[in-house]
Amino acid sequence: TMKSIARRADLKAYVEHNPQLYQLLRRAAARYVTGDDRRDGLEAAASLTAQGYDVSLEYIGENTATEAECEAAVRELSGLIAELAGNRRKARVSFDLSHIGLSLHTDLALRNLLQLAEQAEPAGIELFISMEESAKTDRVLDVYERSVARYPSSIGITLQAQLHRTAADLAQRLPGNSLVRIVKGAYQESEQSALPRSEQLNRRYLELVEHAILQGHRVSIATHDQQIIDTILTRGWLSEGAAEFEMLYGIRTELSRKLKAAGHPVRIYLTYGSEWYLYICHRIAEHPPNLYRAVIDMASG
Ligand code: FAD
Repeated sequence: TMKSIARRADLKAYVEHNPQLYQLLRRAAARYVTGDDRRDGLEAAASLTAQGYDVSLEYIGENTATEAECEAAVRELSGLIAELAGNRRKARVSFDLSHIGLSLHTDLALRNLLQLAEQAEPAGIELFISMEESAKTDRVLDVYERSVARYPSSIGITLQAQLHRTAADLAQRLPGNSLVRIVKGAYQESEQSALPRSEQLNRRYLELVEHAILQGHRVSIATHDQQIIDTILTRGWLSEGAAEFEMLYGIRTELSRKLKAAGHPVRIYLTYGSEWYLYICHRIAEHPPNLYRAVIDMASG
């Protein structure tokens, strides 16, 4: 699948040696990734902020295989935090722990995260940990627990509704008044550990959001699913300012615009980086029509 391709270390070489594939993916990326450079992410962030959105920023990367690459990723994230702080932007910075060392050593990821948090906290910038495939969930939560204990208001965690374990994780692993983002989950998982896209998954998603709000957490409702969003709006859970909607840049923009126009807090999740092909493979894997869309875009110039 696109997902297993996305994790292959030689994906970049493969894409670059296939000019037509490169062009197609690049074309798809133009819609969902702000650009190769930090500047591209910051420009898109400034424009969205001016329109009244909050933003999350991700420097794309995952499963970093050497300490030198981890250091480079931490340097980039640190530069991003410094620029956001300089512009007094209350942005959120999101990343996979495997981008900053989790694939090499749990303690390396923890050390790097604490270093970034030390810089982010005084600037009021939130660091948000993404959730990766279920083989990593325990280690991601370990690093989260050990870091959030020191930076309770600056570090957030993403939980995947698709995993059977998530209700227990939400109840047991988060301290009070935490920052939590609830997503359906982007990874292909076994039936033993996860639900596929279904009504049952949507019901579970809603229960998790309700529990998270009742537990007093600040919740990002990170979905493009209109049915879930409509249900949440009719239940009035948002009235306390305890939750926001969060959507990926370039996806269902009419929906985010409508929610914002109705006065709801909406955050847009932006990405940038030269490893855009990793990100785009995830987006195509979860929604294959994106590939046809890119073909149509390319055919029409
Ligand atoms: P779906 O049922 O997948 O989609 C509902 C509808 O939304 C679709 O019918 C379609 O109209 C539209 N849609 C959904 N995806 C796309 C797409 N790619 N292109 C075009 N239209 C689309 N997953 C993780 O596993 N770990 C993370 O840390 C993580 N972080 C995320 C952060 C944010 C802010 C968001 C919004 C998502 C994140 N995801 C993460 C991805 C998430 O798990 C889902 O894969 C993704 O959001 C699609 O699921 P959905 O809830 O929109 O519902």
